[in-house]
Amino acid sequence: MPTYVYRCTKCGHRFEKFQSMAAEPVKTCPECGAPVERLIGSGAGLIFKGPGFYATDYAGKKNTGDKSDSGGSSDGE
Ligand SMILES: [Zn+2]
Repeated sequence: MPTYVYRCTKCGHRFEKFQSMAAEPVKTCPECGAPVERLIGSGAGLIFKGPGFYATDYAGKKNTGDKSDSGGSSDGE
């Protein structure tokens, strides 16, 4: 169940109402009786954006200097 935030268009009174989507929305301000507007989410002008997806392709391939000295094998007969 979402929490609806209402704001009075007259006195600016803001209040939250925890109700189902099927419930009747609040239309009037409980303080002064003026029409209210329903805000989506908590806080005015808050836009929910998906979290940034960072695909940091960290191709940090370190070259471990492997020195393979193939020594001269002197096989004398
Ligand atoms: Zn009001």
